[in-house]
Amino acid sequence: MDPKNSMILVVDDDALIRELLSSWLDHRGYGVKTAENGQQALAMHQQQGFDLILLDIMMPDMNGFDVLTALKAAGNTTPVVVMSALTDLKSVVTCIKLGAEDFLSKPIESELLWARINASLEKKHYRDAQQTWLEELNLLQQIDQELNTTLDRETISQLTLQYGGQKTGALACCIGAVDGHRLQVRATQGIEPGQLPTIIVDKQQHAITQTAVPENGRLHPQANYRLTLPIYRNAIIRDVAIFDLAHPVPETTLRFLKRLAIHIAIAMHNAQLYADVQAANRAKSNFVAMVSHELKNPLTSIQSYTYLLRRQSSKLPPGTQATYLDIINDGATRIHNLALELDDITQIETGQFRLRLEAVSLPEVLHNVVKLFEPQLEERQQELTVHVPAGLPQVRADTKRLSQILTNLISNASKYTPEGGRIQVAAQLVEGEVGAQMQITVEDNGIGIMAGDQGKVFSQFFRADDELVTAVRGTGLGLNITKKLVELQGGEICFTSEHRQGSTFFFTLPIVTQETAVPAIA
Ligand code: ADP
Repeated sequence: MDPKNSMILVVDDDALIRELLSSWLDHRGYGVKTAENGQQALAMHQQQGFDLILLDIMMPDMNGFDVLTALKAAGNTTPVVVMSALTDLKSVVTCIKLGAEDFLSKPIESELLWARINASLEKKHYRDAQQTWLEELNLLQQIDQELNTTLDRETISQLTLQYGGQKTGALACCIGAVDGHRLQVRATQGIEPGQLPTIIVDKQQHAITQTAVPENGRLHPQANYRLTLPIYRNAIIRDVAIFDLAHPVPETTLRFLKRLAIHIAIAMHNAQLYADVQAANRAKSNFVAMVSHELKNPLTSIQSYTYLLRRQSSKLPPGTQATYLDIINDGATRIHNLALELDDITQIETGQFRLRLEAVSLPEVLHNVVKLFEPQLEERQQELTVHVPAGLPQVRADTKRLSQILTNLISNASKYTPEGGRIQVAAQLVEGEVGAQMQITVEDNGIGIMAGDQGKVFSQFFRADDELVTAVRGTGLGLNITKKLVELQGGEICFTSEHRQGSTFFFTLPIVTQETAVPAIA
């Protein structure tokens, strides 16, 4: 036990003893104060709180027994070592009954004094630590009870600031998620959200830190120290709480905050799971609503035109009957295509999608797909050019699914390009992080996609709110499936687009190299 951290009160009516003990203790490095009677001792202890009291029993006015009785009544836990003559054993026993920790016989022998002081201070230290630990345990239990009643990230954030702020005495604090190096603050205390400076945090720093507050990032004008508390789960930092302080906090507070962070991380994780379940539920409801909406239109036209044919077939000229049958056929095709797309999505999302990866000649697949589009392109007077340099390696892909990707991208390029427009399909080798890859580009000079819509293009059921889009049939599922198909085959897809200027979709596929080639069977 370091004497420098202990304050001892010597209580004796004998000035010589006070002086002697005081100089011994001072010499050893203890902090020491003296009192010449019981009243003075009690007043001093109430004001300052000592770590140990050396108390004479026999004093005029208020003796040692009275002091011990008063201390006991006040719920005092400071150890008291009483000093008495050896012959006065009965008084010593009374003192111990009144709560004294130990006794020293007068005249005081120095070796015994140090032994008693050390033992008493050590016991006090462990008692205090146990007390703090119990208090923290109670507090954590209370916090847990509050955390268990909520699955809302905002409320959890507020509770973190409330308890963390209380424990650290923070002047101002905030908590949020880390985005790059910046803290995206979710809740604050002691500072208005609008007044927050930019807060830079280190996403790799898993330890709780206490540093000088950054000059231009202060949450409070009187703050000198910044305590940064990372809240992480599975080694990934999700949130960071910042406490700006006037004075640094002791090690015990840091330990408490570390424990608090574990409880907060679990509560945040549960809140996230709950939010995910809710989002999944919403997505499922939207999905069902969109599917039923997509089914309604073609079913309505099938129903109405079969009704007309049944009721009026004898009166209708053959040309009109053929038109009605075409409409019915068209509706059935739309439902069939929707069913195929939904089937793909279900298989991909349930992990049941099976690919037949093999060495594929891209020019061959491309040629077959482009051929299918010839009638449509001719009807829309669109020009399609293909640039594939000779000698390109084969790609590692599933032929059927590669055709599906190309079909969807070329179909979109044609659908969303006015009559007379241009479409270019090209392939080239590009160097990526994983080595050489095939990059296929489908470019059009069509209607383009508005900047605000570009982040949603690969989402299920997204169709731009643009009259030139809604005028054309579509389900909004094609690009979502295309992206998943590209990724399942080990590639990536992206695009650039300018509204009313045109769009270019790029996707990559792995190539067949000598190492990955399947040897020919002789
Ligand atoms: P669909 O074509 O059935 O609507 P997709 O998933 O293929 O569904 O495309 C989603 C949306 O992205 C389209 O509705 C359209 O708004 C936009 N889009 C896709 N390709 C193009 C393109 N080449 N030019 C302009 N907009 C496009």
